[in-house]
Amino acid sequence: DASLTSVALAEQHQTGAATSAELLDRYQSSLTGVFGTPQAVLVRGSGARVWDAEGGEYLDLLGGIAVNALGHAHPLISSVISSQQATLGHISNLFTSPTQVALAEKLLSLAKAPAGSSVFFANSGSEANEAALKAVLRHRKTTGKQRILALEGSFHGRTTGALSLTHKPAYREPFGDLIGGVGFLPFNDIDALEKAFEHADVAGIFLEPIQGEAGVLPLDNAYLQRARELTHSSDALMVLDEVQTGVGRTGQWFRYQAVGGVVPDLMTLAKGLGSGFPIGALLSFSEPVSALMGAGQHGTTFGGNPPATAAALATLHAIESGGLLSHVNTVGEHLAAALRELPQVSQVRQFGLHIGVDLIPVAGVEAPAKDLVATARERHGLIINATGETTLRLAPPLNLSLAEADEALERLRAAFTDARTRNQ
Ligand code: PMP
Repeated sequence: DASLTSVALAEQHQTGAATSAELLDRYQSSLTGVFGTPQAVLVRGSGARVWDAEGGEYLDLLGGIAVNALGHAHPLISSVISSQQATLGHISNLFTSPTQVALAEKLLSLAKAPAGSSVFFANSGSEANEAALKAVLRHRKTTGKQRILALEGSFHGRTTGALSLTHKPAYREPFGDLIGGVGFLPFNDIDALEKAFEHADVAGIFLEPIQGEAGVLPLDNAYLQRARELTHSSDALMVLDEVQTGVGRTGQWFRYQAVGGVVPDLMTLAKGLGSGFPIGALLSFSEPVSALMGAGQHGTTFGGNPPATAAALATLHAIESGGLLSHVNTVGEHLAAALRELPQVSQVRQFGLHIGVDLIPVAGVEAPAKDLVATARERHGLIINATGETTLRLAPPLNLSLAEADEALERLRAAFTDARTRNQ
């Protein structure tokens, strides 16, 4: 209906015409603001760049927190979403569609999953982890085992089940009792892992191959391999949360593929899978998800709907046809080498385009990373992220060019000079 279209366009235009200050004001009174004040009002994006309501341009080395795998407003993603929506949009989980089936097959093929493996589609990382947790809870019930393990420093989401597996006390404690029986093991400590498995009461363990929110901290291969042996020998499920590391981010399709001999029972994905269109997935490698959960025991209305699965298929296609798995290593190594040269930097942990940067503590500055993030954004048009007081995280689009990486480094150097990040 033409009149409805013109109303929608007029509203969009009005919103677009508002200043950042006005919109931030309206945000404060109309949104819950659980994350505090937004850093900026963004109105447009293209590739690795975004623009705010005043036309200010930023290079985005955070990529929607490891989500915008192909950058902003990628033409392929826009076109497949709009043509899928124009053909068939939402269908519910009572039906399926060609893109849903094709995406499940493609993910299983990229993961080289054995026969009998299967996929469940959700809408986010938290939801994918909720599904994995239900599978572990059911295993716990059917085997009579008691414990579920996760690691100190873990982040698996903020919905209540996923929060039960998330370690940070500040996120958990305001909510009192969560799912019981979850124990947190010290990070990368094989002795503690072995001790936890001495009693045959572990139903499952949740691991991030590289802890993203904790500052891009990798689990040792030996740790993951030992976890695999112990879960095998004690009939516990090994769940790898690849929400942040999966879909090409670290230079493999999935991070576990860089670790010899480790195939998990379950793997969760989200973030970059849909290039920004919300989609999460649970892959089951040991038996069909339906067998793990019990037939008809899990579901979601939106999960795997045609536009989301079309966006994800296009993302995987672009990564594959663009040779982005090797590209992320080239650009990531280039960035890491330059970052290591900076006098303010003590350590760089780089896995493809998943990069953690530790800053040298600065006398009199409580959180130099946050300081730098604000200076970089406000004065140098660079978006990066702090994961702790002295750690930065970079998770740019996988197709970031070397020229864009150099431009970002230039802006970062200028921000370092400007910010109080150096002992005088
Ligand atoms: N798992 C990991 C490893 C994550 O990094 C995140 C998000 N930061 C989540 C789960 C939760 O994903 P979402 O925000 O999509 O629910």
